[in-house]
Amino acid sequence: MGQTKLVENEEDLPYKCCPLWQTRNKVVWYRGTTIENVDVLFVGEAPGREEDLAGKPFVGRSGRKLDEWIEEAGLTNYAIVNIVKCRPPNNRKPDSSEIRSCLPHLIKQIHDMNPKMIVVLGAVPSSVLINKKEVVANIGKIFRSKYGPVIVFPHPSFVIRGANPYIPIRELKEMLEKIKQGRK
Ligand code: URA
Repeated sequence: MGQTKLVENEEDLPYKCCPLWQTRNKVVWYRGTTIENVDVLFVGEAPGREEDLAGKPFVGRSGRKLDEWIEEAGLTNYAIVNIVKCRPPNNRKPDSSEIRSCLPHLIKQIHDMNPKMIVVLGAVPSSVLINKKEVVANIGKIFRSKYGPVIVFPHPSFVIRGANPYIPIRELKEMLEKIKQGRK
């Protein structure tokens, strides 16, 4: 792990990198089973209302869907973060200056967690990490990036709203094993 410890709550993370600090309740940092040598790092967009209150990502409806996927995939070593760490008001999409301001935190998380693979959840993390705005056509594809292998998934809210794309959830472990073999 890097020199700076990963922190979970606002007391430990008093950054005011962009104007979102003025309306947030808590900085939303991460949740998961581990913070070091993570097998799979899920990257979402930005906290919603429940995440802003809890200080943890994906604890609302989308989080329950994501937890279902993680269970179905049989993952025991994973972490979940967002591109932007503070809630944009009214759950609007984070804008490009907010994303830019928050990027160093995400890069530090990726560096510290050293994930074997990253799953981007929807268009915002996909655009930021692999420069791909199109999600549906890329679901399940693996892209090389400077952060390591990145796999595209839809955002859980897309599925909650009724979309039913094929998502290779059960294949995630196999992909992970192949990546681990390739690393040896
Ligand atoms: N949607 C996200 O992208 N992130 C969260 O933490 C919650 C909902």
